[in-house]
Amino acid sequence: MTTKIFTRALFASLTLSLFACQSKPTLEDAESKMSEEKMKEYIQILASDEFQGRKPFSEGETKTIEYISNVYADLGLETINEKSYLQEVPLVEVTVGVDMPMNFTTKGKKKKIRYKDDFVIFSRRLEDKIEVENSELVFAGYGIVAPEYGWNDYENLDVKGKTVLVLVNDPGLDSGNDKLFKGNEMTYYGRWSYKYEEAARQGAAALLIIHDTKGAGYPWSVVLNSALVPKLYQQSKNKYADRAAMEGWLTHNMASQIFADNRVDLNESIAKAKKKGFKGFALKTKMSMKIRNSYREDKTQNVIGVIKGSDLSDECIVYSAHWDHLGIGRKMNGDSIYNGAVDNGTSLAWMFEIARAFKTMPTPRRSIVFLAPSAEESGLNGSAYYVNHPVFPLNKTVANINNDLMLPYGRMKDVMVTGYGQSELDDYVAEAAKKQGRYVLPDPNPHTGMYYRADHFSFAKAGVPALFARGNNDHIEKGKDYMSKKEKDWLANNYHKPFDEYQDWWDLSGVKEDAMLMFRIGWKLANEDVYPKWKDGSEFKAVREEQMKN
Ligand SMILES: [Zn+2]
Repeated sequence: MTTKIFTRALFASLTLSLFACQSKPTLEDAESKMSEEKMKEYIQILASDEFQGRKPFSEGETKTIEYISNVYADLGLETINEKSYLQEVPLVEVTVGVDMPMNFTTKGKKKKIRYKDDFVIFSRRLEDKIEVENSELVFAGYGIVAPEYGWNDYENLDVKGKTVLVLVNDPGLDSGNDKLFKGNEMTYYGRWSYKYEEAARQGAAALLIIHDTKGAGYPWSVVLNSALVPKLYQQSKNKYADRAAMEGWLTHNMASQIFADNRVDLNESIAKAKKKGFKGFALKTKMSMKIRNSYREDKTQNVIGVIKGSDLSDECIVYSAHWDHLGIGRKMNGDSIYNGAVDNGTSLAWMFEIARAFKTMPTPRRSIVFLAPSAEESGLNGSAYYVNHPVFPLNKTVANINNDLMLPYGRMKDVMVTGYGQSELDDYVAEAAKKQGRYVLPDPNPHTGMYYRADHFSFAKAGVPALFARGNNDHIEKGKDYMSKKEKDWLANNYHKPFDEYQDWWDLSGVKEDAMLMFRIGWKLANEDVYPKWKDGSEFKAVREEQMKN
């Protein structure tokens, strides 16, 4: 009898303390479960030679997606279908063949310009042979239609069937006017991808972007390298018949010569194109070109794990870090495996540790999605597919928190926000950074358009407020000059090379601190019922407002 009472009492006190234990883990408890040792282990495996540089469609892909699935299972994440974390992403790989110079005729005078030296060209159209013949050249300034800035470079300009020349970047660059677009900070309208999309909407036969190193954010060699590798795109029912037949780039020098043949000065035209009310104009030059396309369809996989929420389980926060890298490529110093330890092993480890912290806590109100997209390196393909086929509808997707290229140099005083000023998520960062004794730093190089060059951009473009932030510039002990040098060294010697490899000296305390930061931000978002908004002037605000009406 006594024994039984005693047992009951013990049982009751045990359940009480268990209950207390379950209901009371604090954010600090959850953070204390995050482990640098685990992060190192994840990165060492993902960036090992065995994974062959994690290229989509390769044996490296099979190993990677299996490994991430196992990590998700160990963390206790839910699958997205019957038994799997995998989302199939159908893509098409297009290789262009160019056998001739590009031909320009101005008032009977012919000019042949050289492939690679003067121009690059490609086509999304899934056709074997593509031809543009005697297509009239039209200069359309920056090629931008931006209602929120009251700007339309195509107004009253007939470009149907024509070859449009446009400038890279947007009118704000070097205008000295912060109110013109965003001044030196590039908007999405400055990116080449936007310019191709807009030219297609306008019915152009071809679009050629006039290169300049500052405006593009990179030299001609980068344009050339990316033009020469096969390109991956989403599969398309109409085989991209709605895209311009040809897309490409001209060097600044060649564009300048073509303008001169028309007795027009390119630099003067650029100055005019920066002024509101600029009117595009036709040149007396016609372009002819033929190219060949070969293409094949294939499938890759996004890896997605979920924590189901409680009373707001149909709404979600999406964390993301792409799993793919460049695979096996050109040999350098005897090494041909592009391991991708920083790009993007560190961010995957960052995301896994955030998941671990969430699993320590009671169920959040909103659901949490952990997305490892494929095919980021080839143009944000996995994340672009995800936003068209989301696990939770986009108007129920509260925010995306992405990371990429997290450097292993230890803790930082700053939290660098790329795309600072875009959305109210900045305020969440400010609050969480302050708690860690850190300060918010807008990306010091916003003219390169980094906000448009990693997976969070797929979410932004689709309307979902998206955050790209991490410590990057101000080392906690060694300061800014040290980090500036370290970042430059990494980008010059390791980035997108076989030397992006795990090394024993790595200090992941900064990546862990960023995981703590983003865990706190996600936890707050997951337990409130407001939707953070895009700020006024954001090019994504209108899309979101339309989406939230449904
Ligand atoms: Zn990356």
